[in-house]
Amino acid sequence: MELTNKTVLITGSSRGIGAATALAFAKAGSRVILNARHELPASLKQQLDELGAEYCFLPGDVSDEQVVKKLTKTAWEKFGGIDVLINNAGITRDRLLIGMKTADFDEVLQVNLKGPFLMIQALLKKMYKQRAGVIINLASVVGLHGNAGQANYAASKAGIIGLTKTVAREGALRGIRCNAIAPGMIASDMTAAMPQKAQDQILESLPLKRFGEPAEIAQTALFLAQNDYVTGQTIVVDGGMTI
Ligand code: NAP
Repeated sequence: MELTNKTVLITGSSRGIGAATALAFAKAGSRVILNARHELPASLKQQLDELGAEYCFLPGDVSDEQVVKKLTKTAWEKFGGIDVLINNAGITRDRLLIGMKTADFDEVLQVNLKGPFLMIQALLKKMYKQRAGVIINLASVVGLHGNAGQANYAASKAGIIGLTKTVAREGALRGIRCNAIAPGMIASDMTAAMPQKAQDQILESLPLKRFGEPAEIAQTALFLAQNDYVTGQTIVVDGGMTI
């Protein structure tokens, strides 16, 4: 699939991986619809403006069904269709399972798994009608391997891999492809919030001896959007973390 003049909706794109992905698609000539709960930083708007990008920002919480219905309707009408949906919004509420609060389990599942389900469901019928659409979900290596202190997050990311495979199977004959990306440790606000000691230990264990850059995840999203013969896959981008 060519990316010029295509419309891409990216949830959670005000910073980190989502923002880098928005910039990468804008550079490739796509129209970009950004989303987050809070306003876009001025620096991101400036970067998009400097690229001459056609873009808009639709604020809203992806775990709220009514918000998602409104947001997807507005997004679809704004540019007359959506070619690529990237479910990127995600949160962590880390704690060992023994002390994890039910509310923290629920919140992570609501945003990381129910959010993508709502977004996909709201857009799928329309994508079926246009007989084309690419869906990319942000999973994590933690969804494949588990991680102490992240039972909620791991469950949400394992869930998204199952969701991805199912959407790929259901959508294949209707022109839809659906894949997931499983990043390892990527430099962003999410990983910067981890205790320094944990960051240092992970860094030391990584074969490539560095955290990934958000732009390196964005490159994978570009690949998945463009390659028409890849569906139902989870692409690990982790600097060798899980070799
Ligand atoms: P981040 O820097 O924390 O950014 C998260 C983005 O999501 C922000 O734009 C945030 O903006 C938005 N967001 C959060 N909750 C939302 C909600 N309910 N509705 C809409 N937007 C929401 O995260 P990141 O590190 O870039 O991670 C992006 C994705 O990659 C996540 O799904 C994450 O689980 C996954 N991932 C990241 C890593 C990593 O190492 N960084 C590794 C594996 C997987 P607001 O706060 O304004 O809403």
